[in-house]
Amino acid sequence: MICFENRVAVVTGAGEGIGRDYALDLAKKGAKVVVNDIGHGPDGISTAKKVVEEIILAGGRAAASLDSVTTMEGGRRIVETALDHFGKVDILINNAGILRDRTFMKMTEKEWDDVIAVHLKGAFCVTQPALNIMKGRLYGRIVFTVSSTGLYGAFGQANYGAAKMGIIGLMQSLKLEIAKYNIKVNAVAPNAATGMTRGVFPEEVIKRIKPEFNTPLVTFLCSEENIESGMIFTMSAGWFARSAMVSGKGVCIGDTERKITAEEVRERFDRIKSLENALPYENAGEIYSLGRPLTGR
Ligand code: NAD
Repeated sequence: MICFENRVAVVTGAGEGIGRDYALDLAKKGAKVVVNDIGHGPDGISTAKKVVEEIILAGGRAAASLDSVTTMEGGRRIVETALDHFGKVDILINNAGILRDRTFMKMTEKEWDDVIAVHLKGAFCVTQPALNIMKGRLYGRIVFTVSSTGLYGAFGQANYGAAKMGIIGLMQSLKLEIAKYNIKVNAVAPNAATGMTRGVFPEEVIKRIKPEFNTPLVTFLCSEENIESGMIFTMSAGWFARSAMVSGKGVCIGDTERKITAEEVRERFDRIKSLENALPYENAGEIYSLGRPLTGR
């Protein structure tokens, strides 16, 4: 059994949807959970408080945080809620999210800024104070939430896709900086019928993409047993897979001395754009190590 006894978790945007189920599952497996969300139900009651009540009624331990992830002050207070109630933070799931869909040419500055603020800046604002605690204790598990929209694109979601891919960029550097502290960071691209996707999926699909079908992978990534870091996982309806940034085998044209022409590139463009035998790399240094062509690998 995967167990979170003596572990403290923070889940942002956990009042509803996918995050709520992450919080319930971690609590069920013994974690003390800070349920963060700025949202309210139709009755005006905080959704985070409702999830906390649900956890406590089931015999678990939890505390609510109603701060927004979009400011450093909010991030600091979310982490302080964990410290005040449970004394530490071992696990952080950055899950809070919003959509402001509009085709790119009609998108307003506010629609752009609001989405970047919650997803990308929010990931920074909460993760930095949480890492401060994790580093000191030489232990941490962090999960970021990304999206197939960032990885592959979706009509009307340029702001959202940019924010989600920004998180991947953040993670790829962060994994290198925190490796020595025994802190693992990974990203998941979930799929579920939730408030966020209301009206998007037809009825027969909604039944198959319940929020809880995303939870097992995230629970595992948050566990001590997970030793992977810097990976991206895609999931939907019980299907789980790794996604990755890959580079193709490419073609070496020059000799590092003479100038290469655009015509030489044109002649080899099919090979340059080919992803045959493409590989993911651990870090950028591996691809760009100075003057070492990769065609031999
Ligand atoms: P949801 O709307 O049900 O839940 C998101 C929660 O985040 C809400 O409860 C909302 O109140 C909260 N939130 C919004 N802004 C916040 C802020 N500033 N501070 C704190 N909380 C805030 O949506 P969901 O579908 O459960 O989405 C969860 C995550 O999964 C999001 O990051 C979303 O982008 C991502 N995602 C969802 C899907 C999907 O198919 N549902 C697909 C890809 C990615």
